Amino acid sequence: MIDLHCHIELYQDPKNVIRRCQREGIDVLSVTTTPSAWTMTASLASDAERVHTALGLHPQIAHERHGELALFDSLLPNVEWVGEIGLDGAPEFQASWTVQTRVFNHILAATTEVGGRLMSIHSRRAVEPVLELLSRHPNAGTPTLHWFAGTQAQLTEAVDRGCWFSIGLPMLRSKKGRSLVARMPRDRVLTETDGPFVQLGGQPSFPWNVAAAEEALAKLWRMERDETSALLSENLSRLSESTIANRTSNVTKER
Ligand code: MN
Repeated sequence: MIDLHCHIELYQDPKNVIRRCQREGIDVLSVTTTPSAWTMTASLASDAERVHTALGLHPQIAHERHGELALFDSLLPNVEWVGEIGLDGAPEFQASWTVQTRVFNHILAATTEVGGRLMSIHSRRAVEPVLELLSRHPNAGTPTLHWFAGTQAQLTEAVDRGCWFSIGLPMLRSKKGRSLVARMPRDRVLTETDGPFVQLGGQPSFPWNVAAAEEALAKLWRMERDETSALLSENLSRLSESTIANRTSNVTKER
């Protein structure tokens, strides 16, 4: 199983969560919200080869943490994954919109500079501006839109621009979410929990709860559960290789 977006450091006992993921063979992308949290969060998973720690600067706190961009740049060469990054267009974050776009733009320029990175992107009420910034930085890496909640037209645009999608249970439980997921290319879909923020029956969701999303996805796709698991693992392998392929093609271009 794969949890491509969860906040491991925010669980009460992150070490224990990591141990169980290792034991059960769950691949986890542990996203962070500030560059200053990265080193500690990565050290939690230093001997867990299935847990990857992404370097992030969450759009909802961009106005408080933009001073950490220099730290972001210095840590970037050490990571394969960047996230959680992106833009939030909800009314309560309107005041920070200019800072958010400056931060996201800076990050995309920085990942371009280092040859591209895998990215877990927040795009709440901001799909258009996120796609617009991504198109200005075509070599920034491979974008995965986490918890996509745009329109069908925006989905088509995101697919055309090469985006991948990580899908959680809340999306699969809503009618609108299911109709979006149904139109996503199956070879660009992965699962996520967004735990501990997303709750399940009053409890924070854990990476192993991604089983419920996988099951709902199998039902939606009218596939067997083990076929679905195999497809998702295959997707993760291809996604992981995508920035390496980009970098190789950049090198070829420079020659
Ligand atoms: Mn998140």
